[in-house]
Amino acid sequence: MEHPSSRPPLQSAGPPPSAESVPRREDEGNSSDAGFPDRRLRCPTCRARRRAKEESCYRCGTDLRLLIAIESRADRLYRAACRAYRSGFFRTAASRAAVAVRLEAREEFLRLLSISAVRAGDYRGGVLAARRLIFLRRAAGALGE
Ligand SMILES: [Zn+2]
Repeated sequence: MEHPSSRPPLQSAGPPPSAESVPRREDEGNSSDAGFPDRRLRCPTCRARRRAKEESCYRCGTDLRLLIAIESRADRLYRAACRAYRSGFFRTAASRAAVAVRLEAREEFLRLLSISAVRAGDYRGGVLAARRLIFLRRAAGALGE
């Protein structure tokens, strides 16, 4: 069993996050992310491109209302997590981002969860979120998205 003291000491106060690591206020509502096209723009059943505010898929008729409600809830949690992070409440930011990730595993949610967890002192949680982010990116790459 690994003894905690056998690890190299971790910096408790790292450098402030880079400008791109936490979205700026004006970016929060923007669901697209360069280099990582938003899978939410597609129908989960037939992968047809979704049209804004449409409650059912124009091609296969899948009811999208529950999906839209979940996405909205995840977006609100993410914005709340961003506010908490900016205010220095890293534990709160991490817990809100974690709920957002459970609702929907999105790159920006995982990124915020990872840095919030680390800054709250939860290094294991930070690493787990970062690893999930890497898997998500690889899967998106494999799908050609
Ligand atoms: Zn469809």
